[in-house]
Amino acid sequence: MDKFNAFWVEKSEQGVSQSIVERSVDDLPPGDLLIRVRYSSLNYKDALSAKGVPGVTRAYPHTPGIDAAGIVIESSSDDISEGDEIIVTGYDLGMNTAGGFGQLIRVPGSWAVKLPQGMSLEDSMILGTAGLTAGLCVDKLIQMGASPTDGPVLVTGATGGVGSVAVMLLAKLGYEIVALSGKADKEQFLRTLGASSVVGRAALSEENKKSMLATDWAHAIDVVGGNILSNVIKSLKPGGSVAICGLVASPAFDATVLPFILRGINVLGVDSVEIPLQKKVEIWNKFAADWKLEELQSLATESNLEGLSAAINTIFSGQMVGRTIVNLN
Ligand code: NDP
Repeated sequence: MDKFNAFWVEKSEQGVSQSIVERSVDDLPPGDLLIRVRYSSLNYKDALSAKGVPGVTRAYPHTPGIDAAGIVIESSSDDISEGDEIIVTGYDLGMNTAGGFGQLIRVPGSWAVKLPQGMSLEDSMILGTAGLTAGLCVDKLIQMGASPTDGPVLVTGATGGVGSVAVMLLAKLGYEIVALSGKADKEQFLRTLGASSVVGRAALSEENKKSMLATDWAHAIDVVGGNILSNVIKSLKPGGSVAICGLVASPAFDATVLPFILRGINVLGVDSVEIPLQKKVEIWNKFAADWKLEELQSLATESNLEGLSAAINTIFSGQMVGRTIVNLN
């Protein structure tokens, strides 16, 4: 297979355009592994890259796609063989390396995780980077000592990719979950995923000058930043932790030291991109075993390359619900 189809983003003074083009295997960068991509998934960062937002992809034209799951068709790696099923997420994939929105990718062997037993390629991409990140957030909270007996855990941006997997996983692990969402019509969806209660986004999105607020939640996972994160930090119970990974509302947030020094609040930063491969392997293996989410399919909407532009616009309008997987078969 020398020729393959790829989603193609071009940037010029006239603006950014998206199309499907035929590419050649010789166009791909050097790397140990040539992979036939079966599934990719759409993440927030892909939307930024596909719209030409500065700070994600430096050079265009470009094929985004920070996630890929597929079959190795050529390998010069010691650890991975032709025919292996693998997952690649993060590092430079889809940033400045041609990404998973193409039917072929070529990447270093050091970026690839072998698909764990008990997980399908499709399920791995329903999770994708968003799911891996949700898993890393939960893992960090647990490492800080979080337990279901501490009280409710707040999840912000709850209907989105990271939020929806976080709700599902926390529910599986026995936590009581309060879901914060801007989508009033998705309350039933969130309850089905495992949320005990759903709070409208407006309850936390206004700036509040008080340094501390009534304590409502034991712990939290925040994907939005801004005023919501400020208010979450002010309203965690003593000893509470918030795992933060996103900036959908804003990359900035105001805080005083008071919640930290008077209530011992912990802010736990989560990166899913550049962490050591071994940490990614650990989280993927958990999702194939103790953390296996039986209802994962209920989060998924399938797209093909042609449908990607519309799905990208859904992310930009803040309307994403669950996970979009991209079928490249
Ligand atoms: P999605 O677009 O799937 O979901 C984001 C959700 O946030 C939306 O569905 C919506 O949920 C809520 N939201 C949207 N706009 C706003 C707003 N203006 N204010 C408050 N809430 C809003 O994105 P993901 O879940 O995939 O990613 C979320 C964030 O996490 C992004 O910033 C992304 O870059 C980051 N991220 C970071 C990673 C890391 O390694 N650190 C890895 C993966 C993602 P609702 O309507 O339910 O409120």
